Amino acid sequence: MQFLLEHNYEKFYVMIRLSKSVVGLKESKAVSQVIEETGYLGMGETVGLFEKELEQYIGGEGYKCICVNSGTAALHLALQAVTQPGDEVLVPSFTFVATYQAITGAGCVPISCEVNPVSLLLDLSDAEKRITPKTKVIIPVYYASNVSNVDEYHAFAQKHHLRIIEDAAHAFGCEHNHRKIGSFGDIICFSFDGIKNITSGEGGAIFSSDKKVISAVSDARLLGVCKDSEKRYKGERSWVFDVTRQGYRYHMSNIFAAIGRTQLQRLDTEFAPKRKLLAKKYVSLLSKNPNIQLVPMDYDEIIPFIFPILILNNQRDRLMHLFDEGGVQYGIHYRPNHILTYYKISYSLPVTEDIYTKILTIPLHPDLSEVDIEYICSIIKSL
Ligand SMILES: *Cc1c(COP(=O)(O)O)cnc(C)c1O
Repeated sequence: MQFLLEHNYEKFYVMIRLSKSVVGLKESKAVSQVIEETGYLGMGETVGLFEKELEQYIGGEGYKCICVNSGTAALHLALQAVTQPGDEVLVPSFTFVATYQAITGAGCVPISCEVNPVSLLLDLSDAEKRITPKTKVIIPVYYASNVSNVDEYHAFAQKHHLRIIEDAAHAFGCEHNHRKIGSFGDIICFSFDGIKNITSGEGGAIFSSDKKVISAVSDARLLGVCKDSEKRYKGERSWVFDVTRQGYRYHMSNIFAAIGRTQLQRLDTEFAPKRKLLAKKYVSLLSKNPNIQLVPMDYDEIIPFIFPILILNNQRDRLMHLFDEGGVQYGIHYRPNHILTYYKISYSLPVTEDIYTKILTIPLHPDLSEVDIEYICSIIKSL
């Protein structure tokens, strides 16, 4: 019996987590302050302050930030602001189902596209073939924080007269040519869910310099009530109001904003350097491994959110087994959307489907140590 207990403990005790919220005393103090001093838990001054601080951090001239209660809500509202039901949206199948749910939630049709087999990012030559007169939007996804193609995406959108909504859920704080993602472009959506580069508990944000988009999403997050946001920041609200569009209860609460403000302060000092350091360590230990294909990335420009690797030579199942035995969590980002029942299509996406058989996400979060990374890589080496 004793043996069995110990055995089970060994087997199911996870030593190294795939991802986690790195929160503590600072965040709980900020939440306590909202509860004990501000006393207003809905959307109020703290949300307004978080938005201002996010705008300052991202630093785009003329760009406004609207906070909502999830990254999915950010995408949904952004889509609703620039589409009509029935419009087609180009999107890589290789993304979190949130991107797809936002598209269909807005009444639009996701047009599943391939990714490039090396970068794992939306393949524009494939997307180009799928353009029809109904195509109105392209949503590039910065998978694993890779923002290296941002200029190509913008040029493509301009060439084909499409709106571009960047799914930058993985890319908060990332830069390309010294410009932060969110400080240029059309509409940019971030997520602050529990495990993203920064968290607000749950949350998301929309950035744009398009005043019409900002005004639309600002109202739509508060049930479509016109111009209510400014009042909420001052602790007031509208009693006599008009509604001109479909809205949702998608606003951020002061509690979430308090967590987010604290996390934003910790990003460049604590989280970003640690994430970069750990990712570079992985690269140095795995780059010569014949069973592993890495995704090329400039870790000086980006803040890596996840660390996906491709396992070659049919070794993925074996590696998953070794990780189970060794107490290392892993993930699969992502199951392609075009094979899900709700999003089934009549054509295949062979590159995406092949990647899906090889992809594995290994642990990355700021609470890991370099020794943890060495341990994980020693398991991979034992293949
Ligand atoms: C996390 C994520 C989202 C959605 O964000 P939530 O805040 O979890 O709703 C959308 N797209 C991608 C690629 C994500 O990773």
